[in-house]
Amino acid sequence: MWSVCSKCAPQEPTQSQRCGGQGLHQKDASILFPCSAASRSSLSHHRRIEQIAPPVLLAVDDEENGRLAVDRELRHRYEPDYEVITTGGAEAGLELLGKLAQAGREVIVVLADQRMPGMTGTEFLTRARHVFPASGRILLVSWGDGTSVEAIRQAMCLGQIDDCLLKPAQARDEQFHGAIAHYLEGWAREHGGGFELVKVVGDEGATRSCELCEILARNGVRFGFHAAGSPAGRALLEQAAVVSPALPVVIVFNGSILENPTNSMVAEALGVDIHPRDLLYDIAVIGAGPAGLSAAVYGASEGLVTALLEPEAFGGQASASSKIRNYPGFPHGISGAELAFRTLQQAHFLGVDFIYGNRVTGLRQRGDTYVVTLEDRGELRSRTVIIATGCSYRRLGIPTLEALVGAGVFYWPAIWEARSMRDRDVFVVGGANSAGQAAMHLASCGARVTILSRSSSFAQAMSAYLIDEVENSPAITVRHGVEVIGGRGRGCLESLTLRDRRSGREETVPAQALFALIGTEPHTDWLPANIERDHSGFVLAGADLSPTRWPLARRPLLLETSLPSVFAIGDVRHGSVKRIATAVGEGSTVIRLIHQCLGAD
Ligand SMILES: Cc1cc2nc3c(=O)[nH]c(=O)nc-3n(C[C@H](O)[C@H](O)[C@H](O)COP(=O)(O)OP(=O)(O)OC[C@H]3O[C@@H](n4cnc5c(N)ncnc54)[C@H](O)[C@@H]3O)c2cc1C
Repeated sequence: MWSVCSKCAPQEPTQSQRCGGQGLHQKDASILFPCSAASRSSLSHHRRIEQIAPPVLLAVDDEENGRLAVDRELRHRYEPDYEVITTGGAEAGLELLGKLAQAGREVIVVLADQRMPGMTGTEFLTRARHVFPASGRILLVSWGDGTSVEAIRQAMCLGQIDDCLLKPAQARDEQFHGAIAHYLEGWAREHGGGFELVKVVGDEGATRSCELCEILARNGVRFGFHAAGSPAGRALLEQAAVVSPALPVVIVFNGSILENPTNSMVAEALGVDIHPRDLLYDIAVIGAGPAGLSAAVYGASEGLVTALLEPEAFGGQASASSKIRNYPGFPHGISGAELAFRTLQQAHFLGVDFIYGNRVTGLRQRGDTYVVTLEDRGELRSRTVIIATGCSYRRLGIPTLEALVGAGVFYWPAIWEARSMRDRDVFVVGGANSAGQAAMHLASCGARVTILSRSSSFAQAMSAYLIDEVENSPAITVRHGVEVIGGRGRGCLESLTLRDRRSGREETVPAQALFALIGTEPHTDWLPANIERDHSGFVLAGADLSPTRWPLARRPLLLETSLPSVFAIGDVRHGSVKRIATAVGEGSTVIRLIHQCLGAD
């Protein structure tokens, strides 16, 4: 999603196509390169696989008429760009998937009828994830086939399926094709059209190579990774004429060659701004998660001169979410990366100044304005400031469980998922209020809940009333002094390995879901002391401010911090709801407040 300046943009004939065929004038054609799925962090996912054979769309349906209809729709619309394979029988389908994986083929979408003898479509698609974790998995149902909405919802929540569609009823079933096109578009965004804007040559699995690929992918830059020891990697290094290079080496389309560069060096080589312009901005938005992006869109659309500063990836935490199901208007869900990409594009067209790769390190008042200081010691001046730097959820750091995030492993206490946990063995890791509240909610939804807490009691971190409720709930078992050390599942979570911290005894328990609620850390350590925060570091604003910390005669505005004209929105704010839609809403609300501050209302 880095936009590449027109001076640096590649002079390729296919450029207008890459702009989505929007017919942009060359001068404005800062290409917003489509983004990739941020949730995929390993190099193997990012690595471009040179496709000789086209990627596959595979459908499995025992019932002949249904299969023929799917086959006809897919074949007519998508061949020869994609290979369409349809088959009857779940076992045959799994065997085919295995062979495709062995042959190094890519499978973009797997569709399966729910009503197959021997194996339901849901079971089939769960197993398909094991073979092709990145494929879109679509359950096919027919009117009146008895598949309940509840069963579909549960399968989605547990990550067993990505989507559910009615089988095509007639030729040119555009609703069906709309959903298929969504997956094809996502795949194309991730894999690009053959042109690599950036080539990364490095050691496979090396931390910095992985980080760079992750950053490029999350920012939607088309790139290819080439192992330094591979023939392609060696040839690239030879062409670049780098002797004993410091890996990774980044080769940019315009000829720039960078050895072990920082993120901002790569961004600069691509023509992305890392320094603000020398002017007085109306708004400096710090952090480009959903809250910051939304504030930037609303600010710029209302004629305010707006800068948006982001050190890592546009889209924030949300860009790492493979499927957001509760954002209004997207019944089949939308990936965080796609949502971020669309908003970023919007902000770009509305004239927001992006400053990338240059972390904000400080903020101070100078007269009626603010000075925002940057990592490279640069500065930006603005009349108002929006703090939208979010927070991080602590992770368990267990690779087998990381691979199952969204497929039974959750780091985020979503109500929606809880409703699908009836009669399931669900584990909540954590010993604070968020864990207690999640456990109570899961229990009220009919789940069999076990809370795993490393400490010997809840007394330190959970409110007394909640401890009572948790301990008196018949559906909740509490296990103190126990930690999760592993977990497994073929396609979705099936078991956890636990260790008793006192005895060292290990055990494996069946588990269908794990909610790890082990704390959040706000990104606020860079803020000056005169911005009031709570004991965890979240920023206080509006009515939450201590009266003694507010310096003016007028009352603070909603979302305004203890520094007048400095606002806090989204997850970074004390008491925030921690939802994407809420963050986006606050991004719009704050602009109204800024108008008030600037006296424009
Ligand atoms: C695994 C997971 C799944 C989730 N799923 C959902 C879901 O399905 N639905 C939903 O509604 N919510 C979901 N959430 C919650 C949602 O992602 C957050 O509520 C939302 O992203 C908050 O937006 P934000 O803009 O406030 O902060 P963030 O998204 O955290 O963005 C903050 C940005 O600030 C930047 N930043 C930090 N420090 C600095 C600095 N010093 N200088 C400049 N920039 C800085 C960061 O790089 C980041 O890009 C999920 C969260 C997680 C972790």
